[in-house]
Amino acid sequence: MNSPNSTPPAAENVTVCSAKGCRADAVWVLAWNNPKLHTPDRRKTWLACEEHREHLSQFLGVRGFLKDVVTLAEWERRSSAADG
Ligand SMILES: [Zn+2]
Repeated sequence: MNSPNSTPPAAENVTVCSAKGCRADAVWVLAWNNPKLHTPDRRKTWLACEEHREHLSQFLGVRGFLKDVVTLAEWERRSSAADG
């Protein structure tokens, strides 16, 4: 399977695009869920630069996995809001 998510990030705060071979800074977060593998409330995330947002969105969209596309800033804002 040619999954862009197959290589885990080397460090925790890496915000590099999840597209294979792309080293660009991510701008977008794609939240997705594979109902065959994940419980409905589970969210996997891919990061995407401007260039790859559409490509990765389509990859997930055609499989019916894509749940949400938000900017990285918005995603982090939501995450920190959930904490407090
Ligand atoms: Zn990219």
